[in-house]
Amino acid sequence: MEDLTTRSGQTTAEFEGAAFIEDGSRIAGMLRVLPGTLEFKPNVADQHPIQLPLDNLEISAGGNQNRLIYFKNPARTGISLYTTDRSILKEQSLQRPALQPAIKKIVGGHRRVKAGYWTLLIATLGILAAAWMGRGLVFQAAIDSIPPEAEIKLGELVEKNLTSTMSVIKDPVVNEGVETITRPLTEVAESPLPFTFHVVQHQEVNAFAIPGGSIFIHSALIEKANSAEEIAGVMAHEMAHVIHRHGMQLMVRRIGLYVLIGAMFGDTQGLIAALADQGGFLLSQKFSRDFERQADETGFKILVAANIDPSGMLTFFERIKEIQEEQMSDTEQSAMAIMGTHPATEERIEFIRSKIQELPEDRNFRKIPLDIQKIQRRISLPE
Ligand SMILES: [Zn+2]
Repeated sequence: MEDLTTRSGQTTAEFEGAAFIEDGSRIAGMLRVLPGTLEFKPNVADQHPIQLPLDNLEISAGGNQNRLIYFKNPARTGISLYTTDRSILKEQSLQRPALQPAIKKIVGGHRRVKAGYWTLLIATLGILAAAWMGRGLVFQAAIDSIPPEAEIKLGELVEKNLTSTMSVIKDPVVNEGVETITRPLTEVAESPLPFTFHVVQHQEVNAFAIPGGSIFIHSALIEKANSAEEIAGVMAHEMAHVIHRHGMQLMVRRIGLYVLIGAMFGDTQGLIAALADQGGFLLSQKFSRDFERQADETGFKILVAANIDPSGMLTFFERIKEIQEEQMSDTEQSAMAIMGTHPATEERIEFIRSKIQELPEDRNFRKIPLDIQKIQRRISLPE
Protein backbone atom coordinates (compact mmCIF):
# COMPACT_ATOMS: atom_id res chain seq x y z
CA MET A 1 0.00 0.00 0.00
CA GLU A 2 2.98 2.28 -0.31
CA ASP A 3 1.45 3.72 -3.44
CA LEU A 4 -0.95 5.84 -1.39
CA THR A 5 1.80 8.20 -0.36
CA THR A 6 2.94 8.73 -3.93
CA ARG A 7 -0.59 9.19 -5.14
CA SER A 8 -0.49 12.81 -4.05
CA GLY A 9 0.28 15.41 -6.70
CA GLN A 10 0.47 14.49 -10.36
CA THR A 11 2.53 11.29 -10.02
CA THR A 12 0.97 8.01 -11.11
CA ALA A 13 0.28 5.50 -8.36
CA GLU A 14 2.98 2.88 -7.90
CA PHE A 15 2.41 -0.62 -6.61
CA GLU A 16 5.11 -2.70 -5.02
CA GLY A 17 5.57 -5.96 -6.88
CA ALA A 18 7.92 -8.14 -8.84
CA ALA A 19 8.59 -9.63 -12.25
CA PHE A 20 9.36 -13.19 -13.24
CA ILE A 21 11.48 -13.11 -16.37
CA GLU A 22 12.40 -15.67 -19.04
CA ASP A 23 15.30 -17.29 -17.18
CA GLY A 24 13.09 -17.96 -14.17
CA SER A 25 14.55 -15.26 -11.98
CA ARG A 26 12.52 -12.83 -9.95
CA ILE A 27 13.16 -9.08 -9.81
CA ALA A 28 11.58 -6.79 -7.23
CA GLY A 29 10.25 -3.43 -8.40
CA MET A 30 7.29 -1.12 -8.83
CA LEU A 31 4.27 -1.41 -11.14
CA ARG A 32 2.47 1.56 -12.74
CA VAL A 33 -0.60 1.53 -14.94
CA LEU A 34 -0.09 4.00 -17.78
CA PRO A 35 -2.76 4.81 -20.41
CA GLY A 36 -1.76 2.01 -22.82
CA THR A 37 0.72 -0.12 -20.88
CA LEU A 38 1.49 -1.69 -17.56
CA GLU A 39 5.01 -0.65 -16.67
CA PHE A 40 7.40 -2.41 -14.32
CA LYS A 41 10.40 -0.54 -12.99
CA PRO A 42 13.04 -2.75 -11.30
CA ASN A 43 14.33 -1.50 -7.95
CA VAL A 44 17.88 -2.11 -9.17
CA ALA A 45 18.90 0.87 -11.29
CA ASP A 46 20.88 -0.97 -13.97
CA GLN A 47 17.96 -3.11 -15.13
CA HIS A 48 15.56 -2.01 -17.85
CA PRO A 49 11.86 -1.36 -17.26
CA ILE A 50 9.39 -3.90 -18.67
CA GLN A 51 6.24 -2.82 -20.53
CA LEU A 52 3.18 -5.03 -20.99
CA PRO A 53 0.57 -3.63 -23.42
CA LEU A 54 -2.93 -3.34 -21.91
CA ASP A 55 -4.37 -4.80 -25.14
CA ASN A 56 -4.82 -8.56 -24.56
CA LEU A 57 -3.53 -8.21 -20.99
CA GLU A 58 -4.25 -11.33 -18.91
CA ILE A 59 -5.05 -10.77 -15.25
CA SER A 60 -5.33 -13.59 -12.71
CA ALA A 61 -5.01 -14.25 -8.99
CA GLY A 62 -2.63 -16.81 -7.54
CA GLY A 63 -0.13 -17.64 -4.83
CA ASN A 64 -0.78 -17.87 -1.13
CA GLN A 65 -4.53 -17.37 -0.54
CA ASN A 66 -4.79 -15.83 -4.02
CA ARG A 67 -3.07 -12.77 -2.62
CA LEU A 68 -1.06 -12.15 -5.77
CA ILE A 69 -2.43 -10.40 -8.82
CA TYR A 70 -0.59 -11.64 -11.93
CA PHE A 71 -0.32 -9.81 -15.23
CA LYS A 72 0.76 -11.46 -18.47
CA ASN A 73 0.53 -10.65 -22.13
CA PRO A 74 0.86 -13.15 -24.99
CA ALA A 75 2.90 -10.48 -26.77
CA ARG A 76 5.63 -10.88 -24.11
CA THR A 77 5.83 -14.60 -23.41
CA GLY A 78 7.91 -15.75 -20.46
CA ILE A 79 7.26 -12.59 -18.49
CA SER A 80 4.81 -12.17 -15.68
CA LEU A 81 4.40 -9.25 -13.34
CA TYR A 82 2.67 -9.35 -10.02
CA THR A 83 1.72 -7.31 -7.00
CA THR A 84 -0.05 -8.14 -3.73
CA ASP A 85 -1.69 -4.72 -3.77
CA ARG A 86 -5.24 -5.32 -4.96
CA SER A 87 -5.96 -1.62 -5.26
CA ILE A 88 -4.14 -1.73 -8.59
CA LEU A 89 -7.35 -3.24 -10.00
CA LYS A 90 -9.08 0.10 -9.38
CA GLU A 91 -6.64 2.00 -11.62
CA GLN A 92 -8.46 4.08 -14.23
CA SER A 93 -6.64 2.64 -17.25
CA LEU A 94 -7.61 -0.93 -16.30
CA GLN A 95 -11.32 -0.07 -16.42
CA ARG A 96 -11.64 -1.11 -20.07
CA PRO A 97 -14.45 -3.54 -21.00
CA ALA A 98 -12.09 -6.28 -22.21
CA LEU A 99 -10.43 -6.52 -18.78
CA GLN A 100 -13.58 -6.35 -16.67
CA PRO A 101 -14.50 -10.08 -16.62
CA ALA A 102 -11.04 -11.03 -15.26
CA ILE A 103 -11.09 -8.25 -12.65
CA LYS A 104 -14.63 -9.13 -11.54
CA LYS A 105 -13.60 -12.78 -11.17
CA ILE A 106 -10.70 -11.86 -8.88
CA VAL A 107 -12.68 -9.43 -6.74
CA GLY A 108 -15.61 -11.88 -6.51
CA GLY A 109 -13.32 -14.79 -5.69
CA HIS A 110 -11.75 -12.86 -2.87
CA ARG A 111 -15.15 -12.18 -1.38
CA ARG A 112 -16.07 -15.86 -1.54
CA VAL A 113 -13.03 -16.73 0.60
CA LYS A 114 -14.82 -15.20 3.57
CA ALA A 115 -17.20 -18.12 3.87
CA GLY A 116 -20.19 -18.03 6.16
CA TYR A 117 -21.05 -20.13 9.14
CA TRP A 118 -23.03 -22.58 7.03
CA THR A 119 -19.78 -23.82 5.54
CA LEU A 120 -18.44 -24.19 9.04
CA LEU A 121 -21.44 -26.18 10.16
CA ILE A 122 -21.38 -28.47 7.15
CA ALA A 123 -17.64 -29.03 7.55
CA THR A 124 -18.13 -29.85 11.20
CA LEU A 125 -20.75 -32.44 10.33
CA GLY A 126 -18.32 -33.82 7.79
CA ILE A 127 -15.63 -34.25 10.42
CA LEU A 128 -18.06 -35.91 12.77
CA ALA A 129 -19.08 -38.35 10.07
CA ALA A 130 -15.46 -39.08 9.21
CA ALA A 131 -14.61 -39.63 12.85
CA TRP A 132 -17.36 -42.23 13.04
CA MET A 133 -16.40 -43.89 9.79
CA GLY A 134 -12.75 -44.26 10.41
CA ARG A 135 -9.47 -42.59 9.57
CA GLY A 136 -7.07 -42.45 6.67
CA LEU A 137 -8.26 -40.71 3.54
CA VAL A 138 -11.69 -39.90 4.89
CA PHE A 139 -10.05 -38.29 7.86
CA GLN A 140 -7.74 -36.24 5.63
CA ALA A 141 -10.72 -35.14 3.53
CA ALA A 142 -12.57 -34.06 6.67
CA ILE A 143 -9.58 -32.02 7.81
CA ASP A 144 -9.39 -30.42 4.38
CA SER A 145 -13.03 -29.42 4.66
CA ILE A 146 -12.46 -27.40 7.84
CA PRO A 147 -12.72 -23.78 6.71
CA PRO A 148 -9.38 -21.95 7.01
CA GLU A 149 -11.15 -19.31 9.14
CA ALA A 150 -11.94 -21.94 11.77
CA GLU A 151 -8.36 -23.21 11.83
CA ILE A 152 -7.05 -19.64 12.08
CA LYS A 153 -9.31 -18.99 15.08
CA LEU A 154 -8.07 -22.14 16.74
CA GLY A 155 -4.47 -21.24 15.90
CA GLU A 156 -4.85 -17.90 17.64
CA LEU A 157 -5.77 -19.66 20.87
CA VAL A 158 -2.88 -22.10 20.57
CA GLU A 159 -0.49 -19.25 19.78
CA LYS A 160 -1.61 -17.22 22.80
CA ASN A 161 -1.06 -20.26 24.97
CA LEU A 162 2.43 -20.86 23.55
CA THR A 163 3.72 -17.31 23.50
CA SER A 164 2.78 -16.83 27.15
CA THR A 165 5.52 -19.28 28.05
CA MET A 166 8.11 -18.32 25.42
CA SER A 167 10.31 -15.34 24.86
CA VAL A 168 9.49 -14.00 21.41
CA ILE A 169 12.31 -11.98 19.84
CA LYS A 170 11.05 -8.55 18.77
CA ASP A 171 14.32 -7.16 17.36
CA PRO A 172 13.33 -5.62 13.99
CA VAL A 173 16.70 -6.56 12.43
CA VAL A 174 16.07 -10.22 13.20
CA ASN A 175 12.47 -10.13 12.04
CA GLU A 176 13.28 -8.28 8.82
CA GLY A 177 15.96 -10.89 8.15
CA VAL A 178 13.40 -13.67 8.56
CA GLU A 179 11.04 -11.73 6.29
CA THR A 180 13.75 -11.49 3.60
CA ILE A 181 14.17 -15.26 3.75
CA THR A 182 10.49 -16.18 3.83
CA ARG A 183 8.86 -13.59 1.52
CA PRO A 184 9.91 -15.33 -1.73
CA LEU A 185 8.55 -18.59 -0.29
CA THR A 186 5.18 -17.26 0.86
CA GLU A 187 4.72 -15.52 -2.48
CA VAL A 188 4.85 -18.75 -4.44
CA ALA A 189 3.32 -21.20 -1.95
CA GLU A 190 -0.28 -22.21 -2.61
CA SER A 191 -1.76 -22.27 0.87
CA PRO A 192 -5.26 -22.21 2.34
CA LEU A 193 -3.78 -20.42 5.37
CA PRO A 194 -1.67 -17.26 5.73
CA PHE A 195 1.84 -17.64 7.15
CA THR A 196 3.27 -15.81 10.19
CA PHE A 197 6.79 -16.28 11.49
CA HIS A 198 8.04 -15.80 15.07
CA VAL A 199 11.60 -16.17 16.33
CA VAL A 200 11.72 -17.40 19.92
CA GLN A 201 14.65 -17.56 22.33
CA HIS A 202 15.49 -21.26 22.66
CA GLN A 203 18.75 -23.24 22.79
CA GLU A 204 17.48 -26.32 20.93
CA VAL A 205 17.82 -26.35 17.15
CA ASN A 206 14.21 -26.56 16.04
CA ALA A 207 11.30 -24.98 14.25
CA PHE A 208 7.65 -25.92 14.26
CA ALA A 209 4.31 -24.96 12.80
CA ILE A 210 1.02 -24.77 14.68
CA PRO A 211 -2.52 -24.90 13.27
CA GLY A 212 -3.55 -21.65 11.63
CA GLY A 213 -0.23 -20.97 9.89
CA SER A 214 2.07 -19.61 12.58
CA ILE A 215 5.61 -20.91 12.38
CA PHE A 216 8.00 -20.70 15.32
CA ILE A 217 11.76 -20.63 14.77
CA HIS A 218 14.10 -21.30 17.67
CA SER A 219 16.97 -18.81 17.95
CA ALA A 220 19.45 -21.73 18.02
CA LEU A 221 18.35 -22.82 14.56
CA ILE A 222 19.33 -19.43 13.14
CA GLU A 223 22.59 -19.48 15.10
CA LYS A 224 23.57 -22.90 13.74
CA ALA A 225 22.73 -22.08 10.11
CA ASN A 226 25.56 -21.41 7.66
CA SER A 227 23.46 -19.52 5.12
CA ALA A 228 20.07 -17.93 4.57
CA GLU A 229 19.34 -20.77 2.13
CA GLU A 230 19.65 -23.32 4.96
CA ILE A 231 17.06 -21.46 7.01
CA ALA A 232 14.86 -21.14 3.92
CA GLY A 233 15.02 -24.94 3.55
CA VAL A 234 13.66 -25.49 7.05
CA MET A 235 11.03 -22.76 6.60
CA ALA A 236 9.77 -24.29 3.34
CA HIS A 237 9.44 -27.62 5.15
CA GLU A 238 7.43 -26.01 7.98
CA MET A 239 5.25 -24.15 5.48
CA ALA A 240 4.46 -27.49 3.87
CA HIS A 241 3.23 -28.80 7.25
CA VAL A 242 0.88 -25.78 7.31
CA ILE A 243 -0.29 -26.29 3.72
CA HIS A 244 -1.13 -29.96 4.38
CA ARG A 245 -2.67 -29.00 7.74
CA HIS A 246 -0.63 -31.60 9.62
CA GLY A 247 -0.83 -29.69 12.91
CA MET A 248 -4.60 -29.60 12.65
CA GLN A 249 -4.71 -33.36 12.14
CA LEU A 250 -2.56 -33.91 15.22
CA MET A 251 -4.77 -31.66 17.28
CA VAL A 252 -7.96 -33.39 16.22
CA ARG A 253 -6.44 -36.75 17.16
CA ARG A 254 -4.94 -35.51 20.39
CA ILE A 255 -7.45 -33.13 21.89
CA GLY A 256 -10.59 -34.59 20.47
CA LEU A 257 -13.21 -33.44 18.10
CA TYR A 258 -15.82 -32.14 20.50
CA VAL A 259 -13.46 -29.73 22.21
CA LEU A 260 -12.29 -28.35 18.86
CA ILE A 261 -15.77 -27.99 17.45
CA GLY A 262 -16.77 -26.15 20.60
CA ALA A 263 -13.81 -23.80 20.16
CA MET A 264 -14.69 -23.17 16.53
CA PHE A 265 -18.15 -22.11 17.60
CA GLY A 266 -16.84 -19.81 20.29
CA ASP A 267 -16.80 -22.04 23.36
CA THR A 268 -13.08 -21.83 24.04
CA GLN A 269 -13.07 -22.92 27.68
CA GLY A 270 -12.63 -26.60 26.88
CA LEU A 271 -9.78 -25.96 24.48
CA ILE A 272 -7.94 -23.64 26.83
CA ALA A 273 -8.21 -26.24 29.57
CA ALA A 274 -6.99 -28.97 27.23
CA LEU A 275 -4.04 -26.87 26.08
CA ALA A 276 -3.09 -26.01 29.64
CA ASP A 277 -3.38 -29.66 30.58
CA GLN A 278 -1.36 -31.02 27.67
CA GLY A 279 1.31 -28.36 28.01
CA GLY A 280 3.56 -27.95 25.03
CA PHE A 281 2.54 -31.17 23.32
CA LEU A 282 2.82 -29.44 19.97
CA LEU A 283 6.50 -28.87 20.67
CA SER A 284 7.31 -32.46 21.45
CA GLN A 285 4.85 -34.20 19.17
CA LYS A 286 6.52 -36.03 16.34
CA PHE A 287 4.91 -36.03 12.95
CA SER A 288 4.68 -39.39 11.23
CA ARG A 289 7.21 -40.44 8.61
CA ASP A 290 4.58 -39.89 5.93
CA PHE A 291 3.95 -36.33 7.08
CA GLU A 292 7.68 -35.60 7.10
CA ARG A 293 8.11 -37.02 3.62
CA GLN A 294 5.17 -34.98 2.35
CA ALA A 295 6.55 -31.82 3.98
CA ASP A 296 9.99 -32.41 2.44
CA GLU A 297 8.48 -32.96 -0.99
CA THR A 298 6.24 -29.89 -0.92
CA GLY A 299 8.95 -27.81 0.77
CA PHE A 300 11.37 -28.72 -1.99
CA LYS A 301 8.86 -27.61 -4.64
CA ILE A 302 8.33 -24.29 -2.85
CA LEU A 303 12.08 -23.63 -2.76
CA VAL A 304 12.52 -24.32 -6.47
CA ALA A 305 9.47 -22.22 -7.38
CA ALA A 306 10.86 -19.37 -5.27
CA ASN A 307 14.17 -19.73 -7.10
CA ILE A 308 16.05 -20.54 -3.89
CA ASP A 309 18.77 -23.18 -3.90
CA PRO A 310 17.37 -26.35 -2.25
CA SER A 311 20.93 -27.51 -1.45
CA GLY A 312 20.53 -25.44 1.72
CA MET A 313 17.86 -27.86 2.88
CA LEU A 314 20.26 -30.73 2.30
CA THR A 315 23.36 -29.28 3.96
CA PHE A 316 21.40 -28.24 7.02
CA PHE A 317 19.81 -31.65 7.49
CA GLU A 318 23.20 -33.29 7.06
CA ARG A 319 24.70 -31.12 9.77
CA ILE A 320 21.76 -31.77 12.09
CA LYS A 321 22.29 -35.48 11.61
CA GLU A 322 25.96 -35.14 12.54
CA ILE A 323 25.10 -33.23 15.69
CA GLN A 324 22.44 -35.81 16.56
CA GLU A 325 24.94 -38.63 16.21
CA GLU A 326 27.58 -36.82 18.26
CA GLN A 327 25.10 -36.25 21.05
CA MET A 328 23.88 -39.82 20.96
CA SER A 329 27.38 -41.07 21.68
CA ASP A 330 27.79 -38.41 24.35
CA THR A 331 25.34 -40.23 26.63
CA GLU A 332 23.91 -36.84 27.40
CA GLN A 333 20.23 -36.89 28.00
CA SER A 334 19.60 -33.99 25.62
CA ALA A 335 20.35 -36.46 22.82
CA MET A 336 17.29 -36.17 20.62
CA ALA A 337 16.43 -32.58 21.42
CA ILE A 338 17.83 -31.28 18.17
CA MET A 339 15.11 -31.22 15.55
CA GLY A 340 13.41 -33.92 17.56
CA THR A 341 10.10 -33.08 15.94
CA HIS A 342 11.55 -33.46 12.44
CA PRO A 343 14.36 -36.00 12.76
CA ALA A 344 17.00 -35.61 10.04
CA THR A 345 17.09 -39.24 9.05
CA GLU A 346 19.30 -40.72 6.35
CA GLU A 347 16.12 -41.52 4.42
CA ARG A 348 15.09 -37.86 4.29
CA ILE A 349 18.59 -36.72 3.36
CA GLU A 350 18.70 -39.26 0.53
CA PHE A 351 15.31 -38.13 -0.72
CA ILE A 352 16.33 -34.47 -0.93
CA ARG A 353 19.64 -35.41 -2.54
CA SER A 354 17.85 -37.35 -5.27
CA LYS A 355 15.44 -34.45 -5.90
CA ILE A 356 18.41 -32.11 -6.34
CA GLN A 357 19.98 -34.53 -8.84
CA GLU A 358 16.76 -34.49 -10.86
CA LEU A 359 17.09 -30.73 -11.44
CA PRO A 360 18.47 -29.64 -14.82
CA GLU A 361 22.24 -29.23 -14.63
CA ASP A 362 22.19 -25.62 -15.76
CA ARG A 363 19.57 -24.62 -13.19
CA ASN A 364 20.74 -21.49 -11.38
CA PHE A 365 19.28 -20.03 -8.24
CA ARG A 366 19.41 -16.51 -6.94
CA LYS A 367 21.27 -15.81 -3.70
CA ILE A 368 19.10 -14.56 -0.81
CA PRO A 369 20.34 -11.01 -0.20
CA LEU A 370 20.93 -11.31 3.53
CA ASP A 371 23.95 -11.06 5.84
CA ILE A 372 23.15 -14.01 8.07
CA GLN A 373 26.00 -13.27 10.47
CA LYS A 374 24.50 -9.89 11.26
CA ILE A 375 21.26 -11.59 12.31
CA GLN A 376 23.21 -14.16 14.34
CA ARG A 377 25.08 -11.42 16.21
CA ARG A 378 21.80 -9.70 17.05
CA ILE A 379 20.31 -12.94 18.35
CA SER A 380 23.23 -13.67 20.64
CA LEU A 381 23.00 -10.22 22.25
CA PRO A 382 21.50 -10.23 25.75
CA GLU A 383 18.04 -8.67 25.62
ZN1 LIG B 1 8.58 -31.68 9.85
